Amino acid sequence: MIAIGIDIGGMSIKGAAVDSNGRVYETFSMPCEKGEPGEITIRKLAEIVKDYISTFGLEDKIVGIGIGCPGTLDVKNGVVEYSNNLGWNNLPIAALMNEVLSYPIRLTNDANAAALGEAKYGAGEEYNNIIMLTLGTGVGGGIIIDGKLYEGNLGKGGELGHTVVQVDGEQCTCGRKGCLEAYASATALIRETKKAMFNNEQSLMWNICPDIDMVGGKVSFEAAKQGDEAAIEVLNNYIKYLGEGILNYCNIFRPEAIVLSGGVANAGDYLFSRLNQYVRDRNYGYKMTPEVKILPAELGYDSGKIGAAALFFK
Ligand SMILES: [Zn+2]
Repeated sequence: MIAIGIDIGGMSIKGAAVDSNGRVYETFSMPCEKGEPGEITIRKLAEIVKDYISTFGLEDKIVGIGIGCPGTLDVKNGVVEYSNNLGWNNLPIAALMNEVLSYPIRLTNDANAAALGEAKYGAGEEYNNIIMLTLGTGVGGGIIIDGKLYEGNLGKGGELGHTVVQVDGEQCTCGRKGCLEAYASATALIRETKKAMFNNEQSLMWNICPDIDMVGGKVSFEAAKQGDEAAIEVLNNYIKYLGEGILNYCNIFRPEAIVLSGGVANAGDYLFSRLNQYVRDRNYGYKMTPEVKILPAELGYDSGKIGAAALFFK
């Protein structure tokens, strides 16, 4: 079985044919022009997909087209209700695609698509119950229960980044305060790194990144590995909040694994050994219940495409 998987991002749209073994064929991509009406972007996309299918002679093999998209979606009708990143309002993606392509179209949240990809073909391949967190500009979430994506009523569930880990804490983009996103996103890590740098003029972090405006998610990790106290404190706090968020998901879902993706998840053993220890020590009934493994994602930028296509695979 082959499906087309499409991953819509703020800068570009990427897609590929994916088979039911998770194998990704040649990728196509197009820019997502800021300010261009969504109808025009999607009509261009439909033409690219049509050409792609005919170039590779896949007309009779494609079972459907899966699309992962950021924003608030009506997954039943294939409509993007609102996407802040893309500037799209009530955009009927499925209907527009079907003007040119007669295949079934399925739409899901971008974080859900990535979670399904990792669950079926990546870090979660061996497990049936998985929670995925994407640590980027925000914190995206995906829930896989018994091998299936759980999307909640009308596909609006799975907003794992907006569970509160600190009542009256840091302001979140969603309007509430103290959400996990406000502590565990790359944005939050960078904010705390900058604060620590301003308060510690001697910190190694200044050597690693002399220009405060260029500080990224890696600076604190690099300095902490060299023993820098200020960086270690930033990361201890980061791991504490991320760990508390993860503990909530462990205690609600008791998954076999929690998969982390996004730039921060590339931090390697420094992050994962501490995070696994933090969670292991605090799990509800930790001595009597099976361990929840916290793992880095494996599919990188392909996870969204693979997961979107996998909406059509059993
Ligand atoms: Zn929030």
